Amino acid sequence: MENTAASNFLQSIISDDLNSGRVTEVLTRFPPEPNGYLHIGHAKSICVNFGLAQANGGRCNLRFDDTNPEKESQEYIESILEDVRWLGFSWNGDVRFASAYFQQLYDWAVYLVEQGNAYVCDLDAEQAREYRGTLTEPGCNSPYRERSIAENLDLLARMKAGEFAEGEKVLRAKIDMASPNMNMRDPILYRIRKVPHHQTGTDWVIYPTYDFAHGQEDAIEGITHSICTLEFEDHRPLYDWFIEHLPVQHRPRQYEFGRLNPSYTITSKRKLKQLVDEGVVSGWDDPRMPTISGMRRRGYTPAAIRKFCEMIGTTRSDGVVDVAMLEFAIREDLNENAPRAMAVINPLKVVLTDYPEDKVEWLRSPNHPVREDMGERQLPFTREIYIDRDDFREEANKKYKRLVLGKRVRLRNAYVIEADHVERDAAGNITEVHAHTIANTLGENPEDGIKPKGVIQWVSASHGKQAEVRLYDRLFNHEAPDRGDGDFMAHINPDSLQRVTNAWLEPALVEAEPEQCFQFEREGYFVADRYDHSADRPVFNKTIGLRDTWDS
Ligand code: ATP
Ligand code: MG
Repeated sequence: MENTAASNFLQSIISDDLNSGRVTEVLTRFPPEPNGYLHIGHAKSICVNFGLAQANGGRCNLRFDDTNPEKESQEYIESILEDVRWLGFSWNGDVRFASAYFQQLYDWAVYLVEQGNAYVCDLDAEQAREYRGTLTEPGCNSPYRERSIAENLDLLARMKAGEFAEGEKVLRAKIDMASPNMNMRDPILYRIRKVPHHQTGTDWVIYPTYDFAHGQEDAIEGITHSICTLEFEDHRPLYDWFIEHLPVQHRPRQYEFGRLNPSYTITSKRKLKQLVDEGVVSGWDDPRMPTISGMRRRGYTPAAIRKFCEMIGTTRSDGVVDVAMLEFAIREDLNENAPRAMAVINPLKVVLTDYPEDKVEWLRSPNHPVREDMGERQLPFTREIYIDRDDFREEANKKYKRLVLGKRVRLRNAYVIEADHVERDAAGNITEVHAHTIANTLGENPEDGIKPKGVIQWVSASHGKQAEVRLYDRLFNHEAPDRGDGDFMAHINPDSLQRVTNAWLEPALVEAEPEQCFQFEREGYFVADRYDHSADRPVFNKTIGLRDTWDS
């Protein structure tokens, strides 16, 4: 696998730590909260964490940061495991859960109380906000701050025993209500939440906050480099404070990098969930979603996603990345690795009047223009074929290099044909084109020297298969759908999905395995749908066009 951690500031830090002997082995972690499906931003984080471990002969843990039971679920856990594996990474040992450390975290909370470094506070949420101060004004000490250690120990035990209602009490660290860093103003360590947890059931009615849990989880696991995104930079002093004030065995350090925000995309789980809940998309794995499972169903490959994450670099700035870079990575991978095939998405029948009715010629066609290792297949050529409606005109100027009445075109990997006349229905619509083949033009130019100007794809009408093709485009038609004050829902691209039920495929495509990718010649890249495709009912999803049509 390519080195996704190619030189960046995090690699320099790790190299220095290894050289100076601060660490002897690198241990990173990817810590998703199982409250949604993973998205492209998480893919970046996965590539950074697993990539740095790989590049330095280290390991990377997969740990569910499951401290908020209300929003979490087993479904999310399973999807996350599948997505990380699919991206091509394996984690160190067993999957880990923050919830498995609840007892240790609680014991450490007790320890902080015993040391006089934490206290039980009865302020309600609104009062706590007033006491907290603002960015420009210091906060005030809680009236409960000077409770005795004995009283705090008793109250904490009773919080844990379920004696108080939600919101009635919290456990707070005793740090500094005047700190310029709001995170240091006696942050909350534990809240009362009387909800069952997907891993620990009803064992706990108090749950640790992210800040109290995260660094301690890192310490328990012996993480050397705890890499997160920039919004946690201001939490780092608190991260370090806990590590300094607790009897931990290991001293992890936190480092931050800039979040990945691709243009035309949202990367907030809450908003992605809204798209799912409101039925804007068919689910978390809808091919238009920026989720890993959505991109997978769309036909994006793990290699292309990893390549993209490498291309964009890892920096300490939170800029927007052009989504065209992701699309470029997909095209580049599929151009090299996807076999070519022929499909007609908007069919128009062509009858080759000179070609015998029951004759079938099997024409050898390479599966790839340059990669001979991809072999070839046989294409059946018959009297009736389909071409795309856009590839025929009754009249056209010289720029139009497709089929025109009285003119010639090359059928890809087959004959040159010439159009003679059209048949129409009662409403005047063209129903068929009648044409004839030009003799001896398999792999040869016409003997009369009148060369066709263009090449078009085609499918045998008698041997081809009808299929459903889902044409996907970007889900949002705005570069920054969720920035600013507007509602991101107002920027949904109304043309992001077009379902075609009457497409025609060359017969070999029916044998495609779900998730197999192809280039449909002249149309773009397509993938056999992971769930709905079968030989009886072929279904293909458009991954991406051959060219960027947004860049104009
Ligand atoms: P959201 O804000 O969408 O809920 P999150 O950051 O809360 O995302 P987590 O499950 O906590 O989601 O994230 C797991 C890891 O992935 C964290 O280390 C987080 O920093 C990282 N991550 C999340 N979003 C991005 C992003 N857009 N770019 C890079 N890393 C990200
Ligand atoms: Mg988070």
